[in-house]
Amino acid sequence: MRYSIHLKDKPPIDMDEESLSGIEALKHLGVKGLERFAALKVNGELRDLAGPVDPVSELEPVSIDSEEGLEILRHSASHVMAEAVKKLFPGVRVTIGPAIENGFYYDFDYERPLREEDLPLIEEKMQEIIEADLPFKREEMKSRDAINLFKSEGEDYKVEIIEDLAADNVSLYTQGSFTDLCRGPHLPSTGRIKAFKLIKTAGAYWRGDEKRAMLSRIYGVAFSDRKRLKEHLQRLEEAKKRDHVRLGKQLDIFSTYEEIGAGMIVWHPKGGILRHIIEEFEIREHLKRGYEIVKGPQILKTDLWEKSGHFDNYRENMYFTEIDKQSYGIKPMNCLSHMLIYRSRIRSYRDLPKRYFELGLVHRHERSGVLHGLARVREFTQDDAHILCTPEQLDQEIKGVLDFVRDVMEIFRFEYELEISTRPEKSIGTDEDWDRATRALIKAMDDNSLEYQINEGDGAFYGPKIDVKLKDALDRKWQCATIQCDFTLPERFDLVYIDTDGQRQRPVMIHRVILGSLERFIGVLIEQYAGAFPVWIAPVQACILTVTDRNIAHGEKILKDLMAADIRAEGDFRNEKLGLKVREAQLQKIPYMLIIGDKESDKGGVTPRLRDGRNLPFMTGGEFVNLIQEDCRQRR
Ligand SMILES: [Zn+2]
Ligand SMILES: [Zn+2]
Repeated sequence: MRYSIHLKDKPPIDMDEESLSGIEALKHLGVKGLERFAALKVNGELRDLAGPVDPVSELEPVSIDSEEGLEILRHSASHVMAEAVKKLFPGVRVTIGPAIENGFYYDFDYERPLREEDLPLIEEKMQEIIEADLPFKREEMKSRDAINLFKSEGEDYKVEIIEDLAADNVSLYTQGSFTDLCRGPHLPSTGRIKAFKLIKTAGAYWRGDEKRAMLSRIYGVAFSDRKRLKEHLQRLEEAKKRDHVRLGKQLDIFSTYEEIGAGMIVWHPKGGILRHIIEEFEIREHLKRGYEIVKGPQILKTDLWEKSGHFDNYRENMYFTEIDKQSYGIKPMNCLSHMLIYRSRIRSYRDLPKRYFELGLVHRHERSGVLHGLARVREFTQDDAHILCTPEQLDQEIKGVLDFVRDVMEIFRFEYELEISTRPEKSIGTDEDWDRATRALIKAMDDNSLEYQINEGDGAFYGPKIDVKLKDALDRKWQCATIQCDFTLPERFDLVYIDTDGQRQRPVMIHRVILGSLERFIGVLIEQYAGAFPVWIAPVQACILTVTDRNIAHGEKILKDLMAADIRAEGDFRNEKLGLKVREAQLQKIPYMLIIGDKESDKGGVTPRLRDGRNLPFMTGGEFVNLIQEDCRQRR
């Protein structure tokens, strides 16, 4: 066959060959260091390095370090894991094993759950398969034949997947004794997997469906070299130390109960006060910026949710109940009451903008598989507001919200990134309204010289939005603020204002949250500070520790003085060794420990000790109060 092949932006070379694999083609083109590559792009399409190239081909090798290369590496590692598991656990059935961020997983159906204790053995077997450097061989097959093949192996999940695909042909990949249904591409051989580690196991329903089999999911990570793997494992270690579920328990902030239900948070006293501090902060910041505080009911008639479009577009996320044969929807959003408040009287252009703020408790159905600590829950409070304004005021209002976000992120010392999410598949409103709304958001960003990315199809069903993703201490991104622009709901609820000419006009509505879900935000705060909250939000700011019983009277006086000055203080006057009391206070990550010994009792003051073990000089109770108040003013 006549081949004409070239590298991107390079002249072609021609040759006659019976057939030509990617590797051979690259060799002909003089490409060196082929072991650096995971795959090959042939005329822009990802293929196996070992597979054939087209007679006329533009070739682009894909480095194992590139995003696409790493994905192939990680997915290949999942095949190796599946082979290892099948060798170690006879009778296990395999399902799917995709690449994910930093790694991969595979879901298995076995007679018992696969556990953490099984991982070292699986890793060892994977290492054997890697060292044997087995090629990944691709083969195409009639679906019918593939079904028979997997049936003969008892792999019913694969049979189900192929039946659902309803394609004439499928491709299979085999390495060693393991064959998997797979689109590919894969690494040329298992030996290219240089650095991997299995991380954890979890339960996962087949196809995420609670009515179907519970599978064992094994998560692994894989990188192009050992150094990168090591760095990642260190980050994971750090993340574990900061894990808000673990710290939430240690610091007595919150808990969850199987008996109560998944995704429902119970706030303990330390969490209760933390929430209160943040809510109070929010209310102050909103009042300062011209918002009015409102509150709507928790359940509203289903007819109203139909009118708003939630029933058609958001029903699967909602809960419903019935009262006196009337169906009600538990609110997943706070918009509806706010619109009714607006509509409750005639509004003139002079009244606008209206900014209604609610710390709104909402319920949303999230699949049980995605629930996690405070980060993904089914009941949460949003710092939600709806701004109703004239079209002319829209830019200014969006800018105001962006400024608000900036100020708050500065206070909590978070960096953040912005994205604009556009119209999703399920949505209401005309193309024209979506265009206007999207343009308004883009204009506000451009006018403020803000950088942003476009996130296609990820908007709310009633309008496009700006998403704010904050970055935490470990460089992870968390969704917090969103700003949504909506021309449609004001239309559906016939909201109007009287303009300068006495004409009825339609206001625009901005839906926005700043911190987003308070639950998630508190989870992020716990991880950001590893539980060592700044003084201004610390649930307990100072803890008074007496050395002997002689010091209790003075300790109690100091405690009373601090509480009278609105300082969140606790006393530990137990007849215990001071060392133990200090250790306990340190575990609680309390910013100031006030150790009261004879010197403090006699001289009538305190000697504060900081969380990191440093001591401040002796000072009077009044001086200590000033110190804390200054921390709060500076939001330290
Ligand atoms: Zn595969
Ligand atoms: Zn809303």
